[in-house]
Amino acid sequence: MQEIILIKLGEMVLKGLNRRAFEDVLIKNIKYRLRGLGKFTIKIAQSTIYVIPQSEDTDLDDVCERISEVFGIVTFSRACVCDKTLDDILAKAPLYCKEYLEDAETFKVESKRSDKRFPYKSPEISAQVGGKLLSTCPHLKVDVKNPEVTVTVEVRDFGAYIRCATIRGQGGMPVGTSGLATVLISGGIDSPVAAYMMAKRGLKLNAVHFESPPYTSERARLKVEKLLKEVSRFAGSIEMHTVPLTKVQETMRDRCPEELFTILLRRVMMKIATRVAEQTKSGALITGESLGQVASQTMYALNCTNVAAGKIVFRPLIGMDKQEIINISRRIGTFETSIEPYEDCCTIFTPKHPRTKPILHFVEQAEREAELDELIEEAIRNTTVKTIDF
Ligand code: ATP
Ligand code: MG
Repeated sequence: MQEIILIKLGEMVLKGLNRRAFEDVLIKNIKYRLRGLGKFTIKIAQSTIYVIPQSEDTDLDDVCERISEVFGIVTFSRACVCDKTLDDILAKAPLYCKEYLEDAETFKVESKRSDKRFPYKSPEISAQVGGKLLSTCPHLKVDVKNPEVTVTVEVRDFGAYIRCATIRGQGGMPVGTSGLATVLISGGIDSPVAAYMMAKRGLKLNAVHFESPPYTSERARLKVEKLLKEVSRFAGSIEMHTVPLTKVQETMRDRCPEELFTILLRRVMMKIATRVAEQTKSGALITGESLGQVASQTMYALNCTNVAAGKIVFRPLIGMDKQEIINISRRIGTFETSIEPYEDCCTIFTPKHPRTKPILHFVEQAEREAELDELIEEAIRNTTVKTIDF
């Protein structure tokens, strides 16, 4: 029996004229995500993508896991391929459905006949297949309202298909269909979640990470690379720009009022991230900021930070509680890495009493007096770039 995967398209079906472009990107992303798992034919017809393994020993569990991580897919199913004859459907249904029906008590059969040349109407197909399944699994009862298993028979253009379970995908839009954006990634819990959420809206990502060796270690950077690798399962490959901030931070420590360290650092990050965005033709910045979470994320501090950015800043976590963010980070698999205890450049030289209501005028004055601009240029020149991929 040949088994394939049928993917039903979600939100993107609504995109009218752009639909073809969306579908093309999605198919490209699926192909990329399945690399290393074998050869596949991937085609699209009637708002359904067919993923057809070219070899019998392809592990469909692996394939399903990967497909469940591709944005733009709302639901998908494994399906058994049949000839477009009732005989073949009736022969294969009991064999294919057995594993799903063995432990169930109730089921129903639904049929869809999009190929109207097929000589049996949907209710007739359902009745025949239902009868066959009842005769081979006598413990079963039909329950049309609330069945444990719904067996779906679809007669479509390329063939007939039997499927027994619908698997939920990530939803969202295919990565790349919204453009490219730059995520400011730390080793914390929040920024990987922010990256995931914006990739879900169709953004391809690159990333900026700031480090301050020797105050921050090599292992701290490896942790961030690991986080990006985890995010790349959903977001595809991510170009990581690592920017050394040691001199900038030491100079701030020596020349600026202590209570402004945090806000000054946040503004430097925004300025440099904007430059990386410009260099890489990225259209936005993404941060994991959440209103009120820490001193640098009060409304007043965020205003000071925001004006230092030269691009729109997406802050998908802004209205979320920490626990909500943690729940997502557990679900997408970044939590365990995020809580590994490594230092971040934000956690060195931290003031005892950071300003929660910094005044822009004084912040800018402190910046000018510290003459940070040349050091910022030097940091940009010393940036290293590495591509991270799952
Ligand atoms: P996270 O859990 O993601 O580290 P946080 O709650 O610790 O966030 P902050 O340290 O104030 O909050 O950082 C706020 C945001 O600033 C982060 O979500 C991230 O987008 C960015 N950021 C913080 N530190 C760095 C860094 N070292 N490199 C790049 N971006 C950073
Ligand atoms: Mg942090």
